[in-house]
Amino acid sequence: MLNLPTESECAERLKELVLDRGLRCKCNDTRGFYWKQNRACFECKNKGCKTTYYLKGLTRMKGSKLPFRIWLGAIYLYVINQNITATEMQEKLGHDTYSTIWQLLDKIKTLDIEISELQKKYVYDSETSLIPTYLMTLSYIDFMDPFFLKEPAEVQDYIWKWLAGF
Ligand SMILES: [Zn+2]
Repeated sequence: MLNLPTESECAERLKELVLDRGLRCKCNDTRGFYWKQNRACFECKNKGCKTTYYLKGLTRMKGSKLPFRIWLGAIYLYVINQNITATEMQEKLGHDTYSTIWQLLDKIKTLDIEISELQKKYVYDSETSLIPTYLMTLSYIDFMDPFFLKEPAEVQDYIWKWLAGF
């Protein structure tokens, strides 16, 4: 299984990226937002407005019920292997429902123009990494797993930025 950040870590990082970008309410009030931890949303500080903006609604994950970490992991797995099947992805993500992961993978495939940037980054990194020769004899999955453990943390910002449309 893939070693993913927790859901709150994912939400926190995504929140930071949204704030970096500078969120502005439709009411044009400049007082900013309250962060509602339990609902993962921003609420406009203008008492006459109080519009809420959900993290997911601000990103390409809009309308999805899946956790942030599943999105992060699924895109990561797709970036490193575009031929991955929904079954393999389901196993790696430790998710219960095949049809959900199949739909997610299908959706990710339709959004893959920007993913090419992520792929370039990954290819570049793997070209410069030294792979111990003893690992070369293992099967593809076993060979990759020890290297994947740390990868999500290294590439997650790229993925989040992509998801948020930065
Ligand atoms: Zn407002």
